Amino acid sequence: KLATFPVVKTLEQFDFDAAAGVPQAKLQELSGLAFVERRENVILLGPSGVGKTHLAIALGVRATERGYKVRFITAADLVMQLEKAQRETRFEQYLRRAILGPRLLILDEIGYLPLKKEQSDLFFQVIAKRYEQGSVILTSNLSFGDWQDTFDGNAALTSAMLDRLLHHAHVIQIKGDSYRLRQARQSGLLT
Ligand code: ADP
Ligand code: MG
Repeated sequence: KLATFPVVKTLEQFDFDAAAGVPQAKLQELSGLAFVERRENVILLGPSGVGKTHLAIALGVRATERGYKVRFITAADLVMQLEKAQRETRFEQYLRRAILGPRLLILDEIGYLPLKKEQSDLFFQVIAKRYEQGSVILTSNLSFGDWQDTFDGNAALTSAMLDRLLHHAHVIQIKGDSYRLRQARQSGLLT
């Protein structure tokens, strides 16, 4: 079993009325998973708590049910695994198995953790490897213009990476308030 979602979420559980800017029809289309067959990417952008991870997992769960090999990993864990594989001189093997193996690779939380130069280079290799080989779903709290900050200020690397990611991609920008905060507010925990 590859996927190891931190928690199971479904599209049925997603309240589209509570998510500003999430096109329901687009999500329905994506849940048909043609994007996986076409090796296209899905990029979910927006502030914390607006449902990016929820939607990424929901699509991943669909793909798993459909029999696709799916791998879910946070950017922070991915970088740790890349560094470990490199230390143990099995980096190529890691790329082949863990990065190219799954039909759908979900990379969660790009941008929360600033990466050092070497880490940025390793992350870039993941995107370069997957390019036109297999779908990536990626979530980030940063708009594209700010991605450079996460990748050690490296403008060339960041634009080369975005170039590959965005060549065949569905970009979904979620706006609005944190769902968690809204629930806390509604239940009187916050005023
Ligand atoms: P993000 O990844 O954007 O920070 P999450 O996907 O982790 O946000 O969402 C935070 C919590 O709120 C999760 O428990 C998620 O299931 C829930 N949630 C967020 N948006 C919605 C929504 N529109 N409908 C139902 N649940 C939502
Ligand atoms: Mg998240």
